[in-house]
Amino acid sequence: MSLKTRFLSLAAGLFIIAACASWLAYRELSADLIERWGRQVAEIQVRYDSARLLQSLEREIGLARQMADSTTLINWAADPSNQALEANALREMESFRSNFRDNSYFVALKESGRYYYNNEQNEFAGKQFRYVLSSEKPDDAWFYQLIEEDRDFHLNVNPDTELGVTKLWIDVLMRDTEKQIVGMVGTGLNLDSFLQDIVDINQDGITTLFVDYGGAIQLYRDRNYIDFATLIKPEGQKNTVDLLFDAPEDKQKILGMLQLLKKNSGEAGHVESGFVTVDGREHLAGVAFLPAIGWFEITLLDLNTLLPKSYLWPLVAVFIASLLITLVVFHLIIQSRIVKPIMGLEEAVERVRSGSFTLPRLDKPDNEIGRLVDHFEKMTDSLRDSTRELEHKVALRTDELSRLARIDPLTGLKNRRGLDEVLEGEIQRAGRQGSGFGVLWLDIDHFKSINDQLGHQAGDEILCRVALWLKAGVRPYDHPGRWGGDEFVILLSPCDLATLERIAKRIRETVEQESRKTGTPVTVSIGGYFSNPGDNVDTILRHADKALYQAKNQGRNRVCINTPENTEVNPA
Ligand code: GH3
Ligand code: MG
Repeated sequence: MSLKTRFLSLAAGLFIIAACASWLAYRELSADLIERWGRQVAEIQVRYDSARLLQSLEREIGLARQMADSTTLINWAADPSNQALEANALREMESFRSNFRDNSYFVALKESGRYYYNNEQNEFAGKQFRYVLSSEKPDDAWFYQLIEEDRDFHLNVNPDTELGVTKLWIDVLMRDTEKQIVGMVGTGLNLDSFLQDIVDINQDGITTLFVDYGGAIQLYRDRNYIDFATLIKPEGQKNTVDLLFDAPEDKQKILGMLQLLKKNSGEAGHVESGFVTVDGREHLAGVAFLPAIGWFEITLLDLNTLLPKSYLWPLVAVFIASLLITLVVFHLIIQSRIVKPIMGLEEAVERVRSGSFTLPRLDKPDNEIGRLVDHFEKMTDSLRDSTRELEHKVALRTDELSRLARIDPLTGLKNRRGLDEVLEGEIQRAGRQGSGFGVLWLDIDHFKSINDQLGHQAGDEILCRVALWLKAGVRPYDHPGRWGGDEFVILLSPCDLATLERIAKRIRETVEQESRKTGTPVTVSIGGYFSNPGDNVDTILRHADKALYQAKNQGRNRVCINTPENTEVNPA
């Protein structure tokens, strides 16, 4: 697998791992975040809703308590048949009516069971006495129940069949100076408008409800769940809060929270919270106890509506995009700073391996790879220099060997191979130019006996001397050479017959005269041949040899010239 593929696979693998890890972390974190946030919102919402409810009720409750404490009413309750006291009491009641928010009130006297009521429209002016309560009538049971329970204050959601209204009733016991119950006073709040103002607040995802101390639903947007006249219902027939939940564990949870708050009812503003399912959707329930009215407030937050998970998707998108960009940048950096330089280096190594020292332009990033590339370039430069130097030396040595192969080691003249090559070259040139050249074949006379008499060493010296005299006797551009033994061949070019003869004679004379000076006189016999275009090596040498043979035959120390036209060898 190539480095590039490996890096790409690594980057892709990292991306997938990072994306999975981020997704898991995001899910955990978002759930945790939403839960924390939800709990805080639930607490705030509970306190806010409680405050709104109490704000609306507290004034009414206070007024009802004032009414219950009114001495005018208490005195009248002690003597209800007293006309004067009743007139005063009715005036007092009417003054309270104008102060109550609902502009309505009720007063019920314990002894007589007489029930007084007037409403906003002052419908019952002069006939505030409405009817007499009866402990036998179920509709009136609330009155007797409250007196029996001896509860000073009570809130009660109850339809009044006699009056034809459903109200949230504020009931306050009226006591005389001995603290004996003499009656009950209070006011009612229109349930519809109250629900609209306090409970049905039309905030998406937030549901508020109030339940009484026993868990019976008192205020809820869906009236079917409201437990009317809770007070007089036996346990088990009440619409309690757990009806709102389907799962048994949720029912337990909410009732558990109520219990806990009852235990901690001393702690003001304490809020319990927990997750429950309502209508198949997960909600966060916040529950608080309202000691002022003895009720619980429950706020249900639909977190998916309040904070849909999709709100966080842009965050996820930004994260994934930045992760992708990071990986692409990482890939590009790896590509430009590692992969590309290494690929270039690989190509360069391949070139050097195949013998080329011309490197392509290599990337040199400012890192270890860049330094490696730099070292490689320098190494290639010195390798190229030493290779060239080596090649030069080999060429020189080859030239030298080639030269030596064409030179006679004893005399330093061309040897037979050297002469052959020059001869070939001359034949070619003569053919091209249509001109001739001369060949002299020279043999030392009686050399064998010189050798025998003076020794081989002396013979060698004579060979060397003859070679020197030959060189001296020819022109700089002629080619003297040793054919072998005591035989020498000289190529004369350019040349004509006269020059051939002249130089042959001069050589013969030089050898004779110069050798005499050395004390060991030698002579040479020379056969000459002037070749014409079209002659080959054999022809030329045969003619020259023939001429030499003649020179020897004719007594030695002489020159015989042979020409193609004249096969007769002429002694010169
Ligand atoms: P001729 O006049 O007929 O040429 O008589 P010659 O004695 O010279 O006979 P030939 O040319 O046949 O003899 C050549 C001799 O040269 C024979 C050999 O001993 C001698 N010789 C050949 N090569 C060398 C050499 O390298 N050094 C020495 N000292 N002698 C050599
Ligand atoms: Mg000889």
